[in-house]
Amino acid sequence: MNQNSYISGRATISMDRYVRQVLLSQIGEEGQRALHDSSVAIIGCGALGSSIAEHLTRAGVGTILVVDRDFIELSNLQRQHLFTEMDVGEPKAETAETKLKAINSDISITGIVDDITSRNVEHYIQDRTLVLDGTDNLDVRFLLNDACNKNKIPWIFGACVAVHGMSMNIQPEGPCLRCLFPQIPPRDSIPTCDTVGIMNTLPTIVSSIQSTEAIKYLVSGQLDSGLLVVDVWERDVRTIDVSQRKNCPCCVDHIYESLDVRAPSATILCGRDAVQVRPPFEMSLSLDSLAESLSSRGFVKRTPHILFFTRDTQTFSIFSDGRAIIKGTNDVKEAQSLYEEYVEKYAKEK
Ligand SMILES: [Zn+2]
Repeated sequence: MNQNSYISGRATISMDRYVRQVLLSQIGEEGQRALHDSSVAIIGCGALGSSIAEHLTRAGVGTILVVDRDFIELSNLQRQHLFTEMDVGEPKAETAETKLKAINSDISITGIVDDITSRNVEHYIQDRTLVLDGTDNLDVRFLLNDACNKNKIPWIFGACVAVHGMSMNIQPEGPCLRCLFPQIPPRDSIPTCDTVGIMNTLPTIVSSIQSTEAIKYLVSGQLDSGLLVVDVWERDVRTIDVSQRKNCPCCVDHIYESLDVRAPSATILCGRDAVQVRPPFEMSLSLDSLAESLSSRGFVKRTPHILFFTRDTQTFSIFSDGRAIIKGTNDVKEAQSLYEEYVEKYAKEK
């Protein structure tokens, strides 16, 4: 065996790639082997998720799953450096998989285009060493909080808006996200990147903190507590203690409320002037034949994984599982009836 290689499990890994990392007294060869033997799920592949995925890919984490429901838009390129203009209109998870495989072919990387709901969240996180939050909304984070606690998997929360970021390591014994946020605040009461903007260096910082914490945990099994808060504009970084709430339904009582809630059939994507509609029944659409049938009713554009259909002021982005993001409306009822008219009717006819 080459002296620059070592065995981890059954795989032989080139050490040259990781030499600067193995030199670190905190990691060493033992730590590198632990990284290779780890399996992480990154939920959400926007600015935080794509950057975490890149860090962990380059660091040599052996098995990486990335799940994201969305496609790349031009406005993402300001801060999502895994993607380029060529990728606009493509699904984030699959594009990330291709890019990450080109960075490191020694590890296993899977990108899945899916919407995280109470129905599938446990499937994606089960048996992972660690789960990382790259999402942009509290609904999915509450699902992750419950699912990770139930399955006794630690996870790393991260969030960014405007110039403010935060991150917290959450262990099964708590404190958890619901100790920090007991309830999900009303949708329009919290600012999002889509409503107040985001400084493009902020997710780089927060995702670097999340990735560092992930590597530390995978190497040592230790997770530091406390909420780390960053104001990138004011150069302010601090850690705030978070106490476990005596009656926390999740980490104290182990009642997993969010896992019992069925995902609504339509969700307003805050600040994006768009509504996501989920299919009312299991669908496997042929995007080619749907494109053909819609072509007389509006403008149709195809990328390998998404069908874009524009009529009047709305643009539909339709995925092969029947999910659609309808841009140009914030009205759930209107979106649902548009969906019935242009997608569901077609699926029923087939
Ligand atoms: Zn808790």
